Amino acid sequence: MTRPRLAIHGHFYQPDRRDPFSGAVPPDPSAAPAHDWTERVADECYVPNALRGNFRRIGWDVGPTLAVWLREHRPDVHDAIAAQDDGSNAIAQPWHHTILPLASMRDRRTEIRWGIRDFELRYGRRPAGIWLPETAVDLPTLRLCVAEGIRYTILAPWQAGTDGDLDTRRPYRVDVGGGRSLVVAFYDRDLSTAVSFDPAATENADEFVRARVLPRLAHTLPSGEAPLALIATDGELYGHHQRFRELFLARLTSWYGMGAGDPHLDVAPLGDLLAEEPRPTLPIMTIRERTSWSCHHGVLRWSGECADAADGRWKQPLRVALERLAAALDTLTEALFRPLGVDPWSARDGYVDVAAGYAAADAYVARVLTEATSVATGTTRRGDRARHSREALLRELLAAQSSRLAMFASDAWFWDDPGRQETLQALRFAAHAARIGDRLTGAGLERTLVDDLSVLRAPSSGLDGAALYRLALEQVGQPAPL
Ligand SMILES: [Zn+2]
Repeated sequence: MTRPRLAIHGHFYQPDRRDPFSGAVPPDPSAAPAHDWTERVADECYVPNALRGNFRRIGWDVGPTLAVWLREHRPDVHDAIAAQDDGSNAIAQPWHHTILPLASMRDRRTEIRWGIRDFELRYGRRPAGIWLPETAVDLPTLRLCVAEGIRYTILAPWQAGTDGDLDTRRPYRVDVGGGRSLVVAFYDRDLSTAVSFDPAATENADEFVRARVLPRLAHTLPSGEAPLALIATDGELYGHHQRFRELFLARLTSWYGMGAGDPHLDVAPLGDLLAEEPRPTLPIMTIRERTSWSCHHGVLRWSGECADAADGRWKQPLRVALERLAAALDTLTEALFRPLGVDPWSARDGYVDVAAGYAAADAYVARVLTEATSVATGTTRRGDRARHSREALLRELLAAQSSRLAMFASDAWFWDDPGRQETLQALRFAAHAARIGDRLTGAGLERTLVDDLSVLRAPSSGLDGAALYRLALEQVGQPAPL
């Protein structure tokens, strides 16, 4: 059997900070001297790690909303990262960083499909693995991942069903039903925590390996196999949250490659290791349903009150308000799609090409309508004018659905207060979707939304959700709701 292995995974992510009405990222003075926080983190983390070739030697996922920004604002960095995909180190991420166990099955499927398709567009291959936002998981989500061809994911050790039997030094299989399973690697808690939160531990990479990694790998597994140490963290800590840690990462992975350099261990991304792992021999492990890596109360951090926020009473009403808007918009979408002979949900699944910036909305909509027309037998050619109005309708509805998906990005619920930009941004996406729906049908979606938001209150300012909504719109120069 081979030597002990060290695998690093970095989850790189920024939310979509664009104003959905204009498509531009508003300046954020708190990120000065940078224009906004994505640019700031790019300068401190994505650029130096790409320049040093660190993406070559670790496993990683770059969230699609970050990848869209990179491709538009730093195309050289976007392409440099893509060039460091070795065919197995990069994995996908559901598109909007949505907490999937809290989403409808249809939204989960769309988010996973968008994530996979986005990955194919950028890296030119199918992903074998997926990083679940906040590692939030339940069995239905894993089942959907398997159905879409995903083979593995990474979870926190406390998400395993039977803590006592878990040995994070080897991967497991999770049975998802129907005779199918997914490989799950549970990361090493102590090593990952040290890298994330203990700057003193990562001042010297050689010392980190000697004092912390090698002891974890000192004993072979009961099966006689060589053990694995898997470190999984946010990618941003390498240079942004912690200065100069891109240098730590470069040094830590400098023995990259099987059988290279250091006599004690191999350093390789998890994907490389799993590629050679005989899957049927992996032991079975269960998972704890509806758990995550950054909330120790399941997924409450994004849906209700837990100890992660001093006063989380605003979180549930926010979710209820957005879910009501989503349901109303979906009803309206189905009603307006039906006469066009187009399945709204497969049209939505395919819209990722537009969202990712690889297809123009006009071209995509024209293709969808042409396919629908050629499928429907006996459809007569209608006039150009009717065609144009159908294209316009479809384009608007898909733009509304895109914002409706975006408003569920986990960031809106993560922090202590809904007066923060992360939550205001979710309200802007909600407004964008609601206003399109109202323009097309006069359904009064925005009025209901504002009513539903008015029951929540920001702990810091005392402003209610309706006032926050008006503030969110005012900040991007949009008119107040009627
Ligand atoms: Zn919590």
